[in-house]
Amino acid sequence: MSESGGGRSRVGGGVVRALASYLRRALGPERAAAVFAEAGLEVDPDDIGVDMRWYASRQVLAVVDRVEPELGGCDLGRRTGEEMFRLRPDIHPMFHSLGSVHQALKTVVNLGSRTRTEPAYVVIEEGPTHLVVRSTAPRSTRFACGAAAKHWAQVPTLFDSIGTVIERCCVVRGDPYCEFRIAWDPVEGADTEGYDASRRRSHALVLRFEEEYASRHRKGTRNVHGRSHGNCRRL
Ligand SMILES: [Zn+2]
Repeated sequence: MSESGGGRSRVGGGVVRALASYLRRALGPERAAAVFAEAGLEVDPDDIGVDMRWYASRQVLAVVDRVEPELGGCDLGRRTGEEMFRLRPDIHPMFHSLGSVHQALKTVVNLGSRTRTEPAYVVIEEGPTHLVVRSTAPRSTRFACGAAAKHWAQVPTLFDSIGTVIERCCVVRGDPYCEFRIAWDPVEGADTEGYDASRRRSHALVLRFEEEYASRHRKGTRNVHGRSHGNCRRL
């Protein structure tokens, strides 16, 4: 997941690959390669394989700032979040085997926390068809928040459901933290006893996946549990 905007903060390779993949389609491969090169990013837009490296946030944001006007002012964070989901069909069965949108989303949100150096995403409210997730990363960006939101919004599609994510408050808009409400249409038959066995297997898979991710990112991973800063003044 992407990091905050300034200084030495970094962005995970999955985000950068997704950005490259989207720009390759939207702008064409030559222009995509050129904007990455201009920002000093060594990313080949033709290579959309798994990338476990970290990239400097300022370089990634330089690409975003450069090309958003060319794209008609689209929200490149959200488009990148969608692309992140599309690029990893190999792990979709694992999420689906968790048995419900609810469990799959909680796992995806948690994995997002394991792959960034900012404070973890925290689920502060949950119901059968919604989750509320808070991030206390103090210097997040519109790009980072958009990528997270749209990535999470895709997860219900694994269960033939439609998801929406709204960011009710955001540090970029001057709020003390970011807060996302993820909601989805109910799925008939999900989360029943029949899923229990596969869910247990999947939890083991998720754990292994998280451990692998954490070990590869060990150098830069530092998780701190989020804490409340009081009520969002926009609510
Ligand atoms: Zn935000």
